[in-house]
Amino acid sequence: MINIEIYLDEIKDIMAKYAVYGINLDYLKINDEPRLNIAVAIVGKDINTGEKACGIRIDRQISDSAISSAKGAIGYNKKSNKYDPTLMDKATKLDTDRKFIQHLILHEIAHHKGYTQEEEYECDKWAFSEMEELGWL
Ligand SMILES: [Zn+2]
Repeated sequence: MINIEIYLDEIKDIMAKYAVYGINLDYLKINDEPRLNIAVAIVGKDINTGEKACGIRIDRQISDSAISSAKGAIGYNKKSNKYDPTLMDKATKLDTDRKFIQHLILHEIAHHKGYTQEEEYECDKWAFSEMEELGWL
């Protein structure tokens, strides 16, 4: 199980890195009631400026089974209805809680970058390429 509190500073650091996509640190919401998705990209309004604010809602606790099902979904390309072995291989490299969280946050940032909810494969792919570029994988 992952307790998200341990990673809050790191999550905020990642979000700050991608502020160019409208990411606002005030929009990091910690969710106490487990829902279908561990994390989701959320959009709101900045209380002070009234401008659009992009953020992330993430579960406070992430169970081992939620982690394995999230990893198991990586590589599925909805458009081709096929699994991409390259991405499935990369998913096995998310072998620490920290790397899993980094990928999860980058995936949600990809949605703010413009990928739709139908483009999970593209989001995962982008998240991996960012991790590689940052030397995190
Ligand atoms: Zn997604």
